[in-house]
Amino acid sequence: MPPEDYYEILGVPRNATQEEIKRAFRRLAKQYHPDVYKGDKKEAERKFRKIAEAYEVLSDPVKRAQYDRFGHVGPEQSVDFGPEGFRRTREAFEEFFGPSAFEEIFNLFFGEGRRTRTVSRAQRGEDLEYRVRLTLEDAAFGTNLRVSTPRYEVCKKCGGNGLHPGTGLKACPTCRGTGRIEYRQFSMFGTFVNVRVCPECQGVGQTPESPCLECRGSGRVRERAEINLEIPAGVEDGAHLIFWGMGNAGVAGGPRGDLHVVVEIQPHPIFARQGQDLWVEVPVHYGTLVLGGKIRVPTLSGEEEIEVPPGTDPEEILVLRGRGLPGANGRGDLKVKLRVFIPKKIGREERRLLAAFTERLSPPDPPRRPEL
Ligand SMILES: [Zn+2]
Ligand SMILES: [Zn+2]
Repeated sequence: MPPEDYYEILGVPRNATQEEIKRAFRRLAKQYHPDVYKGDKKEAERKFRKIAEAYEVLSDPVKRAQYDRFGHVGPEQSVDFGPEGFRRTREAFEEFFGPSAFEEIFNLFFGEGRRTRTVSRAQRGEDLEYRVRLTLEDAAFGTNLRVSTPRYEVCKKCGGNGLHPGTGLKACPTCRGTGRIEYRQFSMFGTFVNVRVCPECQGVGQTPESPCLECRGSGRVRERAEINLEIPAGVEDGAHLIFWGMGNAGVAGGPRGDLHVVVEIQPHPIFARQGQDLWVEVPVHYGTLVLGGKIRVPTLSGEEEIEVPPGTDPEEILVLRGRGLPGANGRGDLKVKLRVFIPKKIGREERRLLAAFTERLSPPDPPRRPEL
């Protein structure tokens, strides 16, 4: 089943502004609020979750750019949003419905099953963090990185359940399968019965009859993983990308954690960056500024020839629209700062011509007060 389109879910065009996205989210969240919605509760829950998920992604410029390019927010399609994951959605929701409203609706819809579920041996794997250094070109156009990092993988011997092949689970001998241990405390006021979680089975009540020898019962082993990271176009320096389900394998068959990728962008030898705009300084001959002419300007995707209009002041800035960095609101510009090129050495003939030329010029404009 193809993933549902986040823009369709919110009913906004692909070029919607952040304000439009927020408005659409609020309208729909209100419509499917459990206090308001008259139809099937399961249907409302499903819809509400989709709306929250769509907003969570589209309200983050980096995630939105990633989604626009790849159709999902990470290389893996499964998006596991827990209550912690809905940070921006929660803010937008509570701005509208009041504090703790999101918590309430979240518990109403998704909480009950969670609370009554018995403790499981399976646990979610830890999130991992990885730092990448990108060139400005890679950041601008996106890139595929192949990285090698230690990571817990599902144990191949037992398939992740942590059990020696052909064996099963038995009641924990320490707590006799209850997951709890009662102990009595005697004091001068009487005897108290305290209950605590069984330290042997962590409250599960069951332990392997015979743990897998390869992973010692954890269901996972530490290996060196080769991971393919699709870096979306337009990431910023310091950006934090989340690759869902690409962290450590879980314990005893639990789901994988996420992989957090922190992006660092190397300074570029020619281009300076200002938001989505790029700046470059190009030395130009005096004659070109006076007479006009063509100059070659470097861009992120090769050189381009541009026209310098006659009588151009070196303080003017030439703008190449759309040659900057991509972002949520289209591409930035490349701004060309001109500089008069003054040669340090000059040939005899050139000197003669330049001297003759300068002599013929009328005096320059009078001095003026500079703007500081
Ligand atoms: Zn194993
Ligand atoms: Zn136990």
